[in-house]
Amino acid sequence: MSVHATAAGAVGGTPLVRLGEVTRGLSCPVYAKLEYLNPGGSVKDRAAAAMVDDAEERGVLRPGGTIVEATSGNTGIGLAMVAARRGYACVFAMSDKSSAEKVATLRALGARVLVCQAGVPPQDPGHVRQVAQRVAAETPGAWLADQYNNAANPLAHYRSTGPEIWRQTGGAVTHLVAGVGTGGTITGTGRFLKEAGAVTVVGADPERSLYSGGDGGPYLVESIGHFLHPDADEDLWPTAYDPAVVDRFERISDRDSFHMARRLAREEGLFAGGSSGTAVAGALRVASELGPEDLVVVILPDSGHLYLSKVFDDAWMREQGMLDAPDP
Ligand code: PMP
Repeated sequence: MSVHATAAGAVGGTPLVRLGEVTRGLSCPVYAKLEYLNPGGSVKDRAAAAMVDDAEERGVLRPGGTIVEATSGNTGIGLAMVAARRGYACVFAMSDKSSAEKVATLRALGARVLVCQAGVPPQDPGHVRQVAQRVAAETPGAWLADQYNNAANPLAHYRSTGPEIWRQTGGAVTHLVAGVGTGGTITGTGRFLKEAGAVTVVGADPERSLYSGGDGGPYLVESIGHFLHPDADEDLWPTAYDPAVVDRFERISDRDSFHMARRLAREEGLFAGGSSGTAVAGALRVASELGPEDLVVVILPDSGHLYLSKVFDDAWMREQGMLDAPDP
């Protein structure tokens, strides 16, 4: 028998799938790591389970406690998945930039969701992180996960995602491509792979994101990149992100991200989210400069199911000016 005692036990061990149609004309193989096959549906299950375990071990999260976090959705889903079985309550502050599907999924898992306005300055009482900090301070037995500054987040990827990729490729991986939200995935996975062999780490970043030198202006792809409100008066660079691990960035537009996500679904049968489109668009640019002796691994963080009302909705795409009007 091969049985996990809980959903949290089933986190990790996701498959690698070689991309075909979208890599036509390229000689370098590109392997996609299907993180959307985690039990909570995203790469963030790894960080969420590790952060809860660590908080329990340190005694800062105790039986009957409440897990609080500011999340774009997937970390919340991972935390709620673990919390359901261990009897913790969950309260999440989420920006209204996140898809309705993410809010609905969190509520289905029993979490309380406080939807906050996107684009307000970080010091505004209505900013997601201010709301999460206030709820944590006011709720007895609360623990704020703080994924942006929690060392257990990158460590989860150093201990699981990195070793999995090394093993699955038999040590042949030469390039890792991933988006950067908290930076946990790229920092932990990249650090492990660089210690294991000569692996180049490439961040796939929204064009306006601060991580890759953009102006910090708004963009549509969810959960990756770093943007700053013009009135921000503090440095919010996450400590979960180590810029030294990233060798370079590929900068990808919303349009290219979303069209690549749609191509992955239709041409590869891989139903993944908008940030997966960003990552694969970046991976194809990297692979176009490489040959058959190289091997690119790209992280697909979550599922297209969370974006049925956005990236995979033609009317929404047309509203964003990213799809031509249908023929009359
Ligand atoms: N893509 C999606 C869909 C995510 O939810 C996240 C997590 N914010 C990321 C990418 C980036 O992962 P990380 O926080 O580990 O940088």
